[in-house]
Amino acid sequence: MRNHNLRQSFGLTCDRALPFDILDENPDLISQRSSFSSLPRLKSVPMPFKLDVYDRSVYREPAPIERDSPFQSMMERFDVAAEILELNPGFYDYLCRPARVHMTSIPVEMDSGRVKVFEGYRVIHNNVLGPSKGGIRYAPDVTLNEVKALAAWMTWKCSLVDLPFGGAKGGIICDPNELSRDELERLTRRYTADLFDVFGPDKDIPAPDMNTNEQIMAWVLDTYSMHARRTENAVVTGKPVGLGGSKGRRQATGRGVMTVTLAAMDRLGLSPGECTVAVQGFGNVGSTAAELLSEQGCTVVAVSDVTGGYYNENGLDIQEVQAYTEQNGGTLSGYENATTITNEELLTLDVDVLVPAAKEDQIDQDIAENMQARIVAEGANGPTRPEADKVLEEKEVLVIPDILANAGGVTVSYFEWVQNRQGYFWTEDRVNRRLDRMMQKAFDKVYETADKHDVSLRIGAYVMGVRRVAEALRMRGIYA
Ligand code: NAD
Repeated sequence: MRNHNLRQSFGLTCDRALPFDILDENPDLISQRSSFSSLPRLKSVPMPFKLDVYDRSVYREPAPIERDSPFQSMMERFDVAAEILELNPGFYDYLCRPARVHMTSIPVEMDSGRVKVFEGYRVIHNNVLGPSKGGIRYAPDVTLNEVKALAAWMTWKCSLVDLPFGGAKGGIICDPNELSRDELERLTRRYTADLFDVFGPDKDIPAPDMNTNEQIMAWVLDTYSMHARRTENAVVTGKPVGLGGSKGRRQATGRGVMTVTLAAMDRLGLSPGECTVAVQGFGNVGSTAAELLSEQGCTVVAVSDVTGGYYNENGLDIQEVQAYTEQNGGTLSGYENATTITNEELLTLDVDVLVPAAKEDQIDQDIAENMQARIVAEGANGPTRPEADKVLEEKEVLVIPDILANAGGVTVSYFEWVQNRQGYFWTEDRVNRRLDRMMQKAFDKVYETADKHDVSLRIGAYVMGVRRVAEALRMRGIYA
């Protein structure tokens, strides 16, 4: 990873960043499409309102690579960054541990009348830069170790994108598919009440994560507000727009992927009009990224989902594909205006840009060796295995790492928090322009950091994330 000199590899001679001040004045230069296909539901439950309990979550953190010890997996990247930064040993000790760990036993009266107790966590990894921020995950295999790793990831990700937040994460060991809507509501409300002293717009701000969604955030908001004796919508992000959620939040991650991909093309001297793209995963992130890149002039030749890959060498009509999936239960199955290919074939297609936007561990050593793309924009969390990283580096493939490429989601969560505190709501156009600008800036800084230290963009991103927190810690000092 260390011997990757970006300047040499890509003939970098000058900063070719897009002039975003100009773009802010001329919003037409940036795509403003706002339409977004409605997302498939995981489970349909009769609801008094239109919100579905099992609606898709809007934000997830990088999946740990080492399932047995996710915290160790996070530490491996942290250690490289710490070494480059020559981090003070005391700061190292402090930053590699969570600041606070909360565990709670959550009694829930089940529909049967029986009381069942669930185990819940909230880990505040760090709040040196501001209130801690991070999702709440509901899953049967949640572990404290995993929540600690995810909380640390939030610290580096928020720092990297220059958000005034620290990192946190929450989790409850449960299987939401086995809970009724009422049980899920009682579980959420009791967890929130237990953590009332931990949460707060100036302290710790939760958001959706795996198996949690806008409805669950609405219950968090309501429970917190009941205890606080005032409506406090800034206590949580990823809420329904009708309760203070932000416009543009659902598309934000795919939009961020588009912005950093264009920035990477610019660094390599490629123009969107001459680039072909393959996208793995056609859900929230993948379909938005495909749509927006196609609007920018790229030819999206292949997309895939869990049913397989679909290829058309002349380019796919992404809006038509989206319309097809909408009418087809959310999948690409049976799509006819393309040749079917396997997911492996999609990952190794002769394209300029590959956007893995499905799940973790998709690009292993073999795939990396056969890959032909020049740019990989990691829309998904953890799609590239560490051994593949080395191969891609040797092949001089420009990999935009997940903690940068998919940071658009948490960035618009920050906008949501700002809008709630201002009591003033932005247009979707304003959200998009500010998101584009922040993603472009983050990309440029990561690129320059990687170049300076002669490392990959992935390590460059960690260096930036850790450095900003360490600098803030140095300025604040250690309170005796
Ligand atoms: P999603 O459920 O909306 O879409 C996932 C897509 O991947 C679906 O089309 C599914 O069919 C496809 N898929 C699943 N397994 C596959 C496989 N083996 N091969 C090919 N396709 C497969 O999820 P999403 O919200 O788009 O998230 C996708 C990735 O992006 C995840 O890694 C997630 O953690 C990450 N991410 C999402 C957000 C967000 O805001 N949604 C933010 C940051 C990161």
